[in-house]
Amino acid sequence: ARYRAGEGWYDARLTAYAPLQLDPSTAALHYAQSIFEGLKAYAQPDGSVATFRPEANAARFARSARRLAMPPVPEDAFIAAVDALVDADRDWVPTGPDQTLYIRPYQLASEPFLGVRPASEYLFLVIASPAGAYFPRGVHPVSVYLSEDYIRAAPGGTGDVKCAGNYAASLLPQQEASALGCDQVVYLDAVEKKFIEELGGMNLFFVLGSGDDAELVTPELSGTLLPGITRDSLIELARTMGHTVTERRFSVDEWRQGVADGTVTETFACGTAAVITPVGQVKARTGDFVVGDGTPGPLTMKLRESLLDIQHGRVADTRGWLHRVA
Ligand code: PMP
Repeated sequence: ARYRAGEGWYDARLTAYAPLQLDPSTAALHYAQSIFEGLKAYAQPDGSVATFRPEANAARFARSARRLAMPPVPEDAFIAAVDALVDADRDWVPTGPDQTLYIRPYQLASEPFLGVRPASEYLFLVIASPAGAYFPRGVHPVSVYLSEDYIRAAPGGTGDVKCAGNYAASLLPQQEASALGCDQVVYLDAVEKKFIEELGGMNLFFVLGSGDDAELVTPELSGTLLPGITRDSLIELARTMGHTVTERRFSVDEWRQGVADGTVTETFACGTAAVITPVGQVKARTGDFVVGDGTPGPLTMKLRESLLDIQHGRVADTRGWLHRVA
């Protein structure tokens, strides 16, 4: 769909995937007035297709739009657009474990002008592609690099919304982490550089203790990390299983010390793309350490199965998280 100031949203349509024609002075290309979302559609056992909590993506998209001074897409129009695309692509929704259709809604300032002000014209698009497992090695612990040089988000910035610029700034840290043999970057808070925030595209959880008494800690939504929908879902699932989940600040020292004395038993990352992935090796200038024994921890796997069971329709959806599309 298109937006023009004074007219609102218009020209909503479903078209074949094709290159976009953009004016060379298109605002988004110069000033990054551009936001996006990521969600998935899952083939259900009864032959239907469902998305997972799309209303949460719609709400986050509208929040991202407001932070970037863009007109929000009405939340029902966002969901209707995703539904229309999934319905049109229903033959492309793969079946099988971990196979999904990844959906990417995005909005960009399409007005052609050079100058730093909010645009008066926008494009809202949704594209999709079949996706397999995010990490080709399967559920193996990923290695992470603690970023002490780069900050992902600072108070008052755009770190708690999903805008293109956040990811542009993360490319160099990611490249440097890869050169050091690490899969992902762990970002710390901008002020004290002590507290763990998240990975470049995933939220983090720490497991304290083990068995039925295991507790979970995840960094609180301080305004500088993305409120992940997977994060939110896992908090709910873990509490239903009887585990205490605390959202609070969690420092690198507490992580390292906890791993050393055995109180921190597991660490995992979560997000739409990777679902849940255990964290193993941690590299840091202040000293490397390894979480667990190199295999995925029991609570990590239990939560992963529990979430995948809901998404793939293998258990009853008691929370109304699945949205039937086709
Ligand atoms: N943090 C960041 C920076 C992300 O890009 C993502 C992916 N959207 C997440 C966390 C996880 O969010 P979600 O569970 O909604 O995919």
